[in-house]
Amino acid sequence: MMRLPHFEYHAPRTVAAAADLLARGNAMLVAGGTDILPNMKRRQQVPGTLIGLRNIAELRGISNGDGLKLGAGVTLTALLRDARVRDGYLGLWQAARQVATPQLRNMGTIGGNLCLDTRCNYYDQNYEWRKAIDFCMKKDGQTCWVATSSPKCLAVSSTDSAPALISLGAEVTLTSAASTRRLAVADLYRNDGIHYMTRRPDEILTAVHLPRLDRWRSTYWKLRRRGAFDFPVLGVACAVKLDDGGVVEAARIVLGAVASRPLASTEAAAALTGRTLSDEVIAEAAEAAAKPARPMDNTDYTLHWRKRVTRDFVTYALREVRGDETGELRRRVARQELLLG
Ligand SMILES: Cc1cc2nc3c(=O)[nH]c(=O)nc-3n(C[C@H](O)[C@H](O)[C@H](O)COP(=O)(O)OP(=O)(O)OC[C@H]3O[C@@H](n4cnc5c(N)ncnc54)[C@H](O)[C@@H]3O)c2cc1C
Ligand code: SF4
Repeated sequence: MMRLPHFEYHAPRTVAAAADLLARGNAMLVAGGTDILPNMKRRQQVPGTLIGLRNIAELRGISNGDGLKLGAGVTLTALLRDARVRDGYLGLWQAARQVATPQLRNMGTIGGNLCLDTRCNYYDQNYEWRKAIDFCMKKDGQTCWVATSSPKCLAVSSTDSAPALISLGAEVTLTSAASTRRLAVADLYRNDGIHYMTRRPDEILTAVHLPRLDRWRSTYWKLRRRGAFDFPVLGVACAVKLDDGGVVEAARIVLGAVASRPLASTEAAAALTGRTLSDEVIAEAAEAAAKPARPMDNTDYTLHWRKRVTRDFVTYALREVRGDETGELRRRVARQELLLG
């Protein structure tokens, strides 16, 4: 059985108190604990202090403003139960719906999901396994076993909600003992498996802000090994604003799990803008969206196949926002029957 290492635990009741504790250093935050606690058991992350966020009431709750504000401590289950999320931000709802299992969604929070550690077959192993290969660059070692000449870690961004939130134009608030700032979720990430967030270690993600999205439609498609639950090996988030005649006024297509950060395709968005969602336009956009996807051989499935199905998944997603009935297609995807009919 893997045991947690020793650590000091604090359970502050306000963001300010949590920020003060975090500013002391050698500390990490724990919300639902569904990512960080297994990581600590595997000695991937070994903070001297854990700061629990569950007692902080101001991090919970979903409120209306000019859009919707989600406290970072809102659990994925609470988010799924909120009709404002399902009706106004379907892509986020679908992404959250496909995170892990019901039990993990009862504990896991939207803030923790956005800050989820990057993943890699050579890293998501217990301490003894990693020691046997002399560790790797992400923790305790020098070499990247995925690409031995790589100067940076290529571990994969595996959060389902981030691509969805980027496609919806969401922002987050980050608070430290010294300052508070707000930035786009699109600017929250770096394409670096170790330093994958622009969030400073002393900052707490306190809220997610969803803008009002009149006349936007959104969706999220996920490729994973097991239909019941699994981390994504590909996520496709699409959000499209249509005018009354069905012409695309604006679009965002964001890929998850193909790099160390979610990747937005501006070329695909440009291919859609000013046009109706015909099969030809969708095919053009899907081709463009798949181009930046350079999956590495460090998660599930072969990388060539993952690259190929990216185009298909963008096609599925765009057909859904066009209004096609995609229930059966989703069921086929879950059963691994992936080729377009
Ligand atoms: C079996 C299994 C399957 C999973 N499948 C999926 C999946 O399919 N898709 C997916 O996206 N995830 C998956 N997860 C990961 C995880 O369950 C979710 O991402 C969950 O939403 C994480 O939230 P949490 O509150 O538990 O995060 P925690 O474990 O508490 O924290 C995760 C990270 O975020 C930091 N953090 C937490 N809250 C904040 C905050 N407010 N501000 C700043 N930093 C913060 C922590 O310090 C830590 O680094 C899976 C996990 C398991 C164990
Ligand atoms: S990509 Fe390389 S450095 Fe990063 S976790 Fe995997 S093996 Fe380690």
